[in-house]
Amino acid sequence: MMRAHNFSAGPATLPEVVLQQAAAELPEYRGTGMSLIESSHRSKAYDEVHNATIERIRRLLNIGDSHEVLLLGGGATMQFGMVPLNLLTGDSFCAFTRSGAWAEKAFEDASKVGTVTTVFDGASTNYTTLPNPYELQCDPEAVYLHLTSNETIGGLQWHDFPDTGSVPIVADMSSDIMSRPLPIDKFGIIYAGAQKNLGPAGVTVVVIRKDLLPKCNPAIPAYLSYPVHASKQSLYNTPPVFPIYLMNLVLQWVEEQGGVTAMQEASRTRSELIYSIIEQSEGFYHCPVEQASRSRMNIVFTLKNKDLEAAFVKKAAELGMVGLKGHRSVGGVRASLYNALPMAAVHDLAGFMRGFASENG
Ligand SMILES: *Cc1c(COP(=O)(O)O)cnc(C)c1O
Repeated sequence: MMRAHNFSAGPATLPEVVLQQAAAELPEYRGTGMSLIESSHRSKAYDEVHNATIERIRRLLNIGDSHEVLLLGGGATMQFGMVPLNLLTGDSFCAFTRSGAWAEKAFEDASKVGTVTTVFDGASTNYTTLPNPYELQCDPEAVYLHLTSNETIGGLQWHDFPDTGSVPIVADMSSDIMSRPLPIDKFGIIYAGAQKNLGPAGVTVVVIRKDLLPKCNPAIPAYLSYPVHASKQSLYNTPPVFPIYLMNLVLQWVEEQGGVTAMQEASRTRSELIYSIIEQSEGFYHCPVEQASRSRMNIVFTLKNKDLEAAFVKKAAELGMVGLKGHRSVGGVRASLYNALPMAAVHDLAGFMRGFASENG
């Protein structure tokens, strides 16, 4: 078996040991006589997986009794609509930090539901900057402040979160959840599609502060309602059984590696290595994002000679490093360095970048 170094932004690389365990258990799950994905979602075997997954998320992110953990379908994209449908009721309004492509999508959907104000707009810097979290001003009347903790396409990441007083932060953490410890108390809602740092596509983690549940709009369909899912421990309907099972294995792996502080250390090491090569390349490589806002998950860069970008991506792929092409909307190169990416992949990429620059510089 030859596994590539997979730098894809999502769906993304998963720990090989997890895939092997899943493969071994797939036809017959732990003496039940069937695959877990053939079992009832009310079965004992599945129930254990379901609860273990939620417990692991709680343990890893140090989530206390103040917040509920939900496992939903629909991707992070469904949360773009679900958050405002639940919270943006009557003549209330929410506030947005518009930091890039993903924040814009969330902004557009919220704007269809209700009134949205902008507290930061990165458009004027072509989405290469984030606001200073200590200076961000948010109207205390807003029902929530939305931010995108890591802009997967633009390569920006919030390294600290603002103090918004009584205004809960709602954060799309799809591409950096489980990569660092979090100040959970600051957040009203955290949501994340699984397919970057948590597992396969198909399940979305939603962490919601319990005191928001009674404030949610009751006049929306059942599946869209947070209180409905919370009251049934995310078993109101058939949950995405297989993605949840796999996510549980990934989270177990994260625990074995030393939890989110170990993930944070690793992400620092990985990203500092690649950024240092960009900085030392004397302009051969260029990262457009301001220093303080650079992502540790998705490193975005261009080559001084644009014509060489396709050759860079092609040659890397020939050497087993795939998924490096920048998003179609921005071009350039993007190296996604998620939790499960082996350090060897980062060293190989670093060596390749040095070599490519000296051959073509
Ligand atoms: C990938 C991604 C999304 C979209 O997730 P889906 O699960 O495809 O809906 C949303 N926000 C961010 C920050 C992402 O990285």
